[in-house]
Amino acid sequence: MGNIIASKCRICNFENTFSYGGNRFNYLTNCPVPAINTETEEFENVNYIVEKNNPKFKFYSDKELKGDNEGRNTFGNFDLELNSCNNYCPKCKNFSFDFRIKFFTD
Ligand SMILES: [Zn+2]
Repeated sequence: MGNIIASKCRICNFENTFSYGGNRFNYLTNCPVPAINTETEEFENVNYIVEKNNPKFKFYSDKELKGDNEGRNTFGNFDLELNSCNNYCPKCKNFSFDFRIKFFTD
C-alpha cells in the first residue's frame, strides 16, 4: 500500500528518497507525502493526515506542483495521486522532477 519513491531532477540532478502513503497498519494516522514547505522552500516528507489543512505546505498531489505527466503512470494512495514525471523541482524550480517507485511497503 505504501511506497518508497526515488526522485531525480533531469535538469539540476537534485535527488532524494521519500515515503508515500501509509501502510495497512498505520494508514489512519500516518500518510507520508512529498511536499514543499512554502516558508523555507524546502522539500519535506510530511504526514498528510496531520498537515493537510496547514497552509504552510503544498503537496505533490496538488495541481500546483504537477507539470505534464505525458500520459505516464500515476501513483495513487486513497484520494491522493502523484505524477511520475515533470513535477516541480525544489532546487532549480523547473517542472523536471521525476518519481519512480523503489519498493512497496505493506
Ligand atoms: Zn532541478
